[in-house]
Amino acid sequence: MTEMIKLYDASKCTACRGCQLACKQWNGLKAGQTEHKGTYQNPPTLQHNTYMLIHFQDYVAPEGNVKWLFRKEACMHCTTAACVTVCPSGALYYNKEFGTVGMDREKCIGCKECVSACPFEVPRYDKETEKVSKCDMCETRISNKMNPACVKACPTGALKWVDKEEAMKMAEARVQYLGGDANVYGDKFVGGTHLMYVLPEKADVYDGIHKDPKVPVTISLWKSILKPLSLLGAGGVIGGSILHYFIHGPHKPHPEHYDEPKKQGGA
Ligand code: SF4
Ligand code: SF4
Ligand code: SF4
Repeated sequence: MTEMIKLYDASKCTACRGCQLACKQWNGLKAGQTEHKGTYQNPPTLQHNTYMLIHFQDYVAPEGNVKWLFRKEACMHCTTAACVTVCPSGALYYNKEFGTVGMDREKCIGCKECVSACPFEVPRYDKETEKVSKCDMCETRISNKMNPACVKACPTGALKWVDKEEAMKMAEARVQYLGGDANVYGDKFVGGTHLMYVLPEKADVYDGIHKDPKVPVTISLWKSILKPLSLLGAGGVIGGSILHYFIHGPHKPHPEHYDEPKKQGGA
């Protein structure tokens, strides 16, 4: 296996959103009706028909300067992926060639366990099809020696598709060059992610970023004991319910993770 990384350098991103559009086009994802909410961020969150999103953020630095920060949000393609662990149908799986996390929507049974388990709040459920969606790193492209569509579209070099060793070298060199609070995000949790960022500011400055994402301990319990039950009719319902309670307690996942097809907001 040649582990590959999609490296996003936020310091080179102009937020043109060419990557977002390329993702929609390659994956044949329909646009939704949107509303102007005073931001170029559109739609406001990931959706079942928006696998990646550029975040726009006004940030007042400690010295008083106002900065416009951008961040690409999508599946992080975790090395230890909670979604793969909990998925009872095999719809989510590790790509053995690159280490990314693929998805076969035909196999999805709509149980939403991945929605509850993902530490980055990525998978989105579509009420109309009763299936979940997420970025699969353009598996049909990368398997045919092409770059992911977003990387191909990026005009500034902010996105690169490179092997892990090279990605780490590039990221560290860029952090050294930028200096200040620049840092690499994605290499230190969930076994390392296959979408990694170079951030010019500290990670905790970015709205909505997950500062210390972890796979819940109970996921291991699910893997060894409860997941087999999920394949057995009523046992699956019980096992899934227990897992959901362990991970999230009695809280319901954020309603935006369960898309209303006609409300997408944004600019
Ligand atoms: S970010 Fe979430 S959906 Fe993507 S691989 Fe990790 S656990 Fe799975
Ligand atoms: S909804 Fe259930 S079956 Fe579908 S991908 Fe998520 S965990 Fe797997
Ligand atoms: S295409 Fe490149 S520069 Fe444009 S928003 Fe995406 S990452 Fe940023």
